Amino acid sequence: MTKIGLSLNFSKCELFITDSCPDKENTIDLFRQLAPGIKIINKESLHLLGCPVLDQSFENFVDTKIQHFKATSHRLAKINLHSTYSIIKHCLFVPKFIYILRGTHFWKYPTLVSKLDTLVVETITSIFNIPFDDRSWTQASLPIRFGGLGIRKISCVALPAFLSSVHGAQSLIEKILDPSIGSMEAAHCSEAMNVWSITCPDTDPPANPCSQRQWDEPLCQLVRKNLLDTSTSLADRARLLATAEWESGLWLQALPSPNIGTFLDNTTFRLAASLRLGASTNQPHRCQCGAMVDILGHHGLSCVRSAGRMSRHASINDVIRRALVSAKVPAVLEPSGLARDDGKRPDGMTMVPWSMGRPLIWDATCVDTLAPSHVLSTSATAGVAASSAESLKRRKYAVLGSSYIFAAFGVETMGPWGPSARRLYKDLATRLIEASGDQRAGHYFAQRVSIAIQRGNTASLLGTLPIDGDLGQIFYL
Ligand SMILES: [Zn+2]
Repeated sequence: MTKIGLSLNFSKCELFITDSCPDKENTIDLFRQLAPGIKIINKESLHLLGCPVLDQSFENFVDTKIQHFKATSHRLAKINLHSTYSIIKHCLFVPKFIYILRGTHFWKYPTLVSKLDTLVVETITSIFNIPFDDRSWTQASLPIRFGGLGIRKISCVALPAFLSSVHGAQSLIEKILDPSIGSMEAAHCSEAMNVWSITCPDTDPPANPCSQRQWDEPLCQLVRKNLLDTSTSLADRARLLATAEWESGLWLQALPSPNIGTFLDNTTFRLAASLRLGASTNQPHRCQCGAMVDILGHHGLSCVRSAGRMSRHASINDVIRRALVSAKVPAVLEPSGLARDDGKRPDGMTMVPWSMGRPLIWDATCVDTLAPSHVLSTSATAGVAASSAESLKRRKYAVLGSSYIFAAFGVETMGPWGPSARRLYKDLATRLIEASGDQRAGHYFAQRVSIAIQRGNTASLLGTLPIDGDLGQIFYL
């Protein structure tokens, strides 16, 4: 190599010699003479491309990772919760570990995996100040589309990550190895397939075995089914059903940016996450209306004096109006000259025709998924309270006849939307994309609606407090 101007940097070279080497010590001495400064690696510290290789390498590897994480995680407590959540979900824990989970048979070390999961739950409990129990942590660890927070457990992701990776690498392994060897399967692949089949007994292996999501999906469904089957009350079941609806998790996908109005303060984020997971939000206390508020705080969402109702209603209408204006459809709130059968005005109207030469009028409403009057139906079907509220609105606006296109925009406190709200969203999203050229423009609109609901919920929960009460004594502030 020196002939072509290259030389080895021995301080960056590593040497590992297996136990089967006949004269191991002598070989090491020879290497030390040939390559002064070379690192001699033992079984415990043998890593290849950042992944532990031998069984003995895993424990040491995990301990190093844990120490490194503990040394830096305290900094997370110094920034806003919403931002911390984004960092944890997109950059730390599983996202940072996914390469190792795909490249090694980590799923075969339940004790080590459990060590990492404990670190995750201890960290988020401390940072989020949410009292996670087994159920709420299990729900939190599901993907957002299953009603979780998307902060995955390493124990849940390890097997799907490994299976998709070995299937993805299979053709490459065959190309690299001599064809005369015959078909060669990646190590631990059959064993991993067996474990997966035993865990999901009535499920076929995925159509695309290279897809981690397809291996993961049946496992998540099992966890969610178990949570639903062990629901502790109708409200618990209604919450689990509602939070798995697409619209319910949109606020968790929003970029925490104050400039575009999608930034949640610490209290809002914590209470919104606690409500989603059924974790306790406050100490029991008496609401201003006289009713008792339990540790889950649900009373505030449906209290007759709910403090968040007005602000939430105004925010949702403002979001819809702004979206219409962005889609080049000028619109006003509470148009004069129009009245429904009870004399009240609709929430908004477009100033130019929306469809069929007729302007759009809309009326938004947010009903409580967990209210005693709705919980029987919402614990059977998600979104049914929003759907009923929309039907009620349609009847009230029937008096306006066919001169307008009427859209009821019904949403629920736990997140689901009614069918009419979804239709309006689809129409509006198409126009927003057309006007802005941004394929995600509709999605941003939906995220803002979702955030407005969460802010309203927080105001409702805080509004149950005595006016001169000390918030810190009741809420986990
Ligand atoms: Zn009350």
